[in-house]
Amino acid sequence: MFEIKENFALKNHNTFGINAKTKYFVFCNSENDIKEFLNIHKNKDLPLMILGGGSNVLFTRDYEGYILHPKIKGIETIYETKDEIEVRVGAGEDWDEFVGFCVENGWGGVENLSLIPGNIGTSPIQNIGAYGVEVKDVITNVEVIEIDSQKRICYKNEECEFGYRDSIFKRKLKGKQIITYVTFRLKKQPIFKLDYGNLNEKLMEYNEVNLNSIRQAVIAIRESKLPKPEEIGNAGSFFKNPVITKHKADQLKERWPEIPNYKVNNNLVKIPAGWLIEKAGFKGKQMGNAGVHDKQALVLINQGNATGEEIVHLARNIQQAIIILFDIKLEMEVNVI
Ligand SMILES: Cc1cc2nc3c(=O)[nH]c(=O)nc-3n(C[C@H](O)[C@H](O)[C@H](O)COP(=O)(O)OP(=O)(O)OC[C@H]3O[C@@H](n4cnc5c(N)ncnc54)[C@H](O)[C@@H]3O)c2cc1C
Repeated sequence: MFEIKENFALKNHNTFGINAKTKYFVFCNSENDIKEFLNIHKNKDLPLMILGGGSNVLFTRDYEGYILHPKIKGIETIYETKDEIEVRVGAGEDWDEFVGFCVENGWGGVENLSLIPGNIGTSPIQNIGAYGVEVKDVITNVEVIEIDSQKRICYKNEECEFGYRDSIFKRKLKGKQIITYVTFRLKKQPIFKLDYGNLNEKLMEYNEVNLNSIRQAVIAIRESKLPKPEEIGNAGSFFKNPVITKHKADQLKERWPEIPNYKVNNNLVKIPAGWLIEKAGFKGKQMGNAGVHDKQALVLINQGNATGEEIVHLARNIQQAIIILFDIKLEMEVNVI
């Protein structure tokens, strides 16, 4: 049976540490709990949102509705050969604990995604990625419950419309479905991906290159760059890295010869949003209780008692400055509620 709490404080349920409340918070331990709750929520007297680990949301006010928190646990082997294994994982499992479990078992594919906060059920939504790997590379299917019909639907990888920090769950299906299980295919003879950023260089500090040393190296790099949410409230990268035409990038290079850019295809390039924000002079800046991290300009932080509105105000100021300076519109990666 699901459990409902009224006037529930969200401070410990969002990594920005915003002091907001929700009218109702609903804990669901199983698919049945979710269906039972949806059954009584049918008349939709109040709005409904889903919350996993709260590491990609920003509350700008109290939520006058139901927040459903899927806590479905469990890692079940679907099939196994000498080369690979497929596991079906409950939406409520912690992402990084799952990565640790895979590494301990010698299953490769997610080690580069170590230390990303959040839950399993959220990992496909923005196709989490880091150090040259995206979760779409290992997902075989995503199971959901449709909110209106309470039907179970299983989406195969190719039906998920995965893209850069993007999927069908973030677009067409946003707010319509609750992800309950994700199935991953992992390799027992892993192929390492080490050519991103300074991962290769960091690995020189370890005796051997294996799943465990890659995980440790990724954790060490991330800890040196990103603030820990338990210490400084944040939601990781606040903006997406903008993708612009090559023609526009060439024009920008005339004024900013050092502008970094990464080829997406023959016509498009990706520009690091952190570089743009730093160039616009925002790195380490503070506005009220909101700020821009002094080591990583892409991360907006709660300096203590920031409200969600203060963070959004800072974000809008940054967006405006980037338009004026570079004629580029930065898109928010974080879900502003
Ligand atoms: C310090 C830090 C570093 C980060 N680094 C990275 C990184 O390297 N790469 C990266 O890709 N991301 C990164 N992130 C962002 C974040 O960790 C991911 O987006 C993560 O997948 C969010 O998971 P969550 O469970 O916390 O999602 P939440 O914040 O709880 O939810 C995010 C969105 O998904 C919806 N949702 C949640 N669960 C479900 C469900 N079961 N069914 C349907 N909808 C649901 C919510 O309604 C909301 O719209 C970072 C965040 C932080 C704080």
